[in-house]
Amino acid sequence: MTANCPSCQNEVQQPIKVWSIAGELDQKGSFTEKRVALYRCDRCQTKFPIVAGSKRFRIVHEAELVLLKKKAAEGEVLAAKVKEMSEKIQLLMAELENVKQTLELERLQNKRDELRSEVKHLRELKEGFQQELSELRSDRWKK
Ligand SMILES: [Zn+2]
Repeated sequence: MTANCPSCQNEVQQPIKVWSIAGELDQKGSFTEKRVALYRCDRCQTKFPIVAGSKRFRIVHEAELVLLKKKAAEGEVLAAKVKEMSEKIQLLMAELENVKQTLELERLQNKRDELRSEVKHLRELKEGFQQELSELRSDRWKK
């Protein structure tokens, strides 16, 4: 990690020292750790520090840590359950589609049976009419 000298703008390649400093704890028990790098300019010999990065940390009580881990585990279990549920839902949807098709088929079959019995009924009526008609005709011939 390179840095520019604040005095002469020379680019310095390597720090002579890197260390971490921890910031103050806040009310939530969090603090920031900053990495500080100290450079010495090889042209003008100016020493200057650069904050190389910071990380946020949180101090947690052991009991709280157990709780946090438990919550994370519960979260994973829940996520797995949600995944399982959505898979089940998909299966159910497919099954529902099948049932719908079966029902539609049954409905059509029922309709066909209805039509058949109606046709049968109409044929019987027709035969009855034909019968009556032929009787009328034969009556007329007799007269
Ligand atoms: Zn310099």
